[in-house]
Amino acid sequence: MAIKTPADVSLAVNGGTAVRSADNPLPQVFPRYVPESAYDNVRSVLDGGVASNLIGRFEEAFAEATGTKYCVSISNCTAALHSLYAGLGVGPGDEVVVSPITDFGTIAGIVAQGAVPIFPDVDVRTGNVSAETIAKVLSPRTAAIVAVHFYGLLCPMEEIVTLGRSKGITVVEDVCQAPLANYSGPTVKGKSGSLGDVGGFSFDAEKHLTADHGGAVTTDSEEVADRVRSFALSRGAVTHEGYGRKHETFGLNYRFGQFQAGLALAELGVLEEQNERRRQGAAHLSSRIDEIDGITPPYIPPGSDHIYWLYHVRLDPDQFSCSVWDFAEALKAEGLGANAGVAPYYLVPDSHVFMQDKAHVAGRSGWPWDHPMNEFAKDIEYSADMCPVAKEHVDTTIRWGWTDKHAAEDIEDMATMFNKVAEYYRV
Ligand SMILES: *Cc1c(COP(=O)(O)O)cnc(C)c1O
Repeated sequence: MAIKTPADVSLAVNGGTAVRSADNPLPQVFPRYVPESAYDNVRSVLDGGVASNLIGRFEEAFAEATGTKYCVSISNCTAALHSLYAGLGVGPGDEVVVSPITDFGTIAGIVAQGAVPIFPDVDVRTGNVSAETIAKVLSPRTAAIVAVHFYGLLCPMEEIVTLGRSKGITVVEDVCQAPLANYSGPTVKGKSGSLGDVGGFSFDAEKHLTADHGGAVTTDSEEVADRVRSFALSRGAVTHEGYGRKHETFGLNYRFGQFQAGLALAELGVLEEQNERRRQGAAHLSSRIDEIDGITPPYIPPGSDHIYWLYHVRLDPDQFSCSVWDFAEALKAEGLGANAGVAPYYLVPDSHVFMQDKAHVAGRSGWPWDHPMNEFAKDIEYSADMCPVAKEHVDTTIRWGWTDKHAAEDIEDMATMFNKVAEYYRV
């Protein structure tokens, strides 16, 4: 710990004045912007109910916006991903290779289907998987690869899709943090959610496009779209002449609602411009962060796009006398935002304790029977050790919620916070 000088005491975490005090906070994610058309859409549901067909209109608009043939709207992304795993026929004993740094919602459906999550390591610069890390963990039982566009940064889809095609393995995109981002590789190009074989989206309260709660699956495959619809919306039912519904396959009720579709449709109309403001604000901050020794702004690989669900920096711990956690606390005290911090829980093999103790997976995961993972995953030791680079990435990363509301002065103030804290703790 550096010896405090009078100048040091000015750090807000030590009782000094914050760059942005509580009465002059930076813009936050909430309240969310609600376009005028959302009010009209909600009114038309109140007036017309199902006849308003907001779900149908949203699905059509979302398929078009993402450049896919089919969109199936679903209650949230955890359910959307579960439905698409079911729709792809993922089942007991199958392995699903999935980004280790993600939300639990990416994993839940894999475990629910009795399949085994396999975690490759990541590119330390991005926190995302690459073809190189994925290739190391493929096996004859690999049923799908799930590339999570974490933070809002697109995975290197050219190489991942090429790898999937060469092995005949389906590529899934978890697009929850990166809707309508653009990818441009030599052969793989277009909007997020159209780059692999199937994409899953979230319209949760905090996500770019929010309906308060919601999700969707996008794909060009009619067969996958039909199977997802059957599993998630029709509860596996098929209507027979002279009888009615027969439940021919197992299915659930993961329906989206008309009101939410009305909100989502309205928000879709402003998403591209919001994404652009997010990019511009982040580029401004990155140019300032770049000037500070020991702190690295987000790295964006060639061809990828970043639309910043979270902004994130990596710290070189050797250059500062404090821990990454203390550095984050100091930034928070300067007014960076209540959710600025280190987030080790995003490292799924570390935070998903129920998978670590397979002998008890049934009890802990809520299944009354012996879960298939007990057998199929018995030789897998789930822990942070399976992806040391991912662990290094989360341990050295400070991230916080980004929004398109930041003005240039707000970004300059953020840069001031980083400079102030970095100079105080610099060794
Ligand atoms: C938010 C999120 C999910 C889960 O989405 P819900 O709509 O909350 O179920 C899944 N994956 C990622 C990467 C997410 O950010």
